[in-house]
Amino acid sequence: MSESKLHAIVVGSGLAGLAAASVLRIHHNVTVYERGNPNVATGGQGMVLFPNGIKILNSVGFDGSRAGGVPCHGYRMLDNDGKVLEDIPIDFKHRWGADMLMMKRSDFRDELMRIATAPATEPGIEGEPARLVFNTGVVDLDPEAGTISLANGSVVKGDVIIVADGIHSTLRKRIVDGEDRVAKKTGLTLFRVAVPTKDAQEAVGTLPEWWDDGQDENRLNIMQLDDPLRVIANYPIRQKTYRNLSCLFPMHKARQDILETWYKDGDKEEMLRTFDAFDEKTRKILSIATEVKVWDLEELDSLPNWHRGRALVIGDAAHAMTPLQGQGANMAIEDADSLRLLVPGMSGGDIESILHKIDSIRRPRAAKVLQDTRNQAKSVTLQERLATMDYNCNYNGIHEALQKEGLSS
Ligand SMILES: Cc1cc2nc3c(=O)[nH]c(=O)nc-3n(C[C@H](O)[C@H](O)[C@H](O)COP(=O)(O)OP(=O)(O)OC[C@H]3O[C@@H](n4cnc5c(N)ncnc54)[C@H](O)[C@@H]3O)c2cc1C
Repeated sequence: MSESKLHAIVVGSGLAGLAAASVLRIHHNVTVYERGNPNVATGGQGMVLFPNGIKILNSVGFDGSRAGGVPCHGYRMLDNDGKVLEDIPIDFKHRWGADMLMMKRSDFRDELMRIATAPATEPGIEGEPARLVFNTGVVDLDPEAGTISLANGSVVKGDVIIVADGIHSTLRKRIVDGEDRVAKKTGLTLFRVAVPTKDAQEAVGTLPEWWDDGQDENRLNIMQLDDPLRVIANYPIRQKTYRNLSCLFPMHKARQDILETWYKDGDKEEMLRTFDAFDEKTRKILSIATEVKVWDLEELDSLPNWHRGRALVIGDAAHAMTPLQGQGANMAIEDADSLRLLVPGMSGGDIESILHKIDSIRRPRAAKVLQDTRNQAKSVTLQERLATMDYNCNYNGIHEALQKEGLSS
């Protein structure tokens, strides 16, 4: 019995929950409970994954090309007329050991779903597929007993419970010391659209230089107007057949009721009004978007602890931050990687001490990345962005992190 697999329960099938399942399945039996349907938590727009996340995913069978990932080769700063002010080529792979990939969020989640649930006969995939149980909300959790209560009244016992129920977590209060923590608004609003390359070509004739495949050189472009502050970050996704445009500005007072969700529809007219000082082609491209999503960006103050008994909170439920560094999901993947420390045959006491160890490594790092992300909201110059990138991307997983702290695995 000493080598028996653990039964790992994961709450939530967002990016954090699926990444956790992808790591845990290597040695354990995994069940993921998701309150929504299989398409929950996707959203159609873009996201970027940095080498710290990609290195970990590559080790569990991730295939960036299946996710339509476009490798980023640097940043460009442009003015609101699309004129390049600064070009910073970056060789992510050479410098940090893996590509930075720009992807459609739904493509990325599909690929995470594959590595969590594919048979071990697929290249790079190990262990038993995780079992996903949809339309099944978890309403309570007993961290000491290792049980969860489902909406239908049944109670399920696991050896370890990973709580990945997102920024508006209802379960973290069972784990975290002190009063219930809630996410707060940051004062920034983001519209996002994903526009097909073909449609943009038809609409504007010649694509702008920042989009044209011959000239864009796989850059992540940041177009900025300083007064009033308006930023459009744009980058290619889905093998360059689409482009994500993320349009950031200080929150309008009138609209403070929007909760963070992947599905909130934005008002296209409001987006066009807000970004009317950008050049004609950019405005035209925004105007042909068929789906406009909006977020009043929120974040969570650092928590005093992430574990209790047999339960650990990870992902946005533990450390939600704004996308200004593009590190939220990367942090969730790093959290997931730390679950490698759980090995078959562990007793309840062993599990508790491993979760404590994970907390001691992961929580301070996530707190620093949150603080760096906050700093970038004050100023989004490329130099500041680059200064934190070494810290973020040099992460090589939990074993090396423990060694650096003088702790054994
Ligand atoms: C606009 C925007 C852009 C972003 N861009 C980037 C980027 O480029 N790069 C990056 O690294 N990060 C980015 N992020 C951050 C990243 O999206 C998040 O960090 C990540 O999605 C968090 O995943 P999660 O699984 O923790 O939470 P979620 O994706 O919110 O998933 C939580 C899941 O739990 C389920 N759930 C909730 N409660 C229960 C319950 N009681 N029982 C069962 N299931 C439950 C939900 O239905 C959901 O499926 C961005 C965030 C935003 C808002």
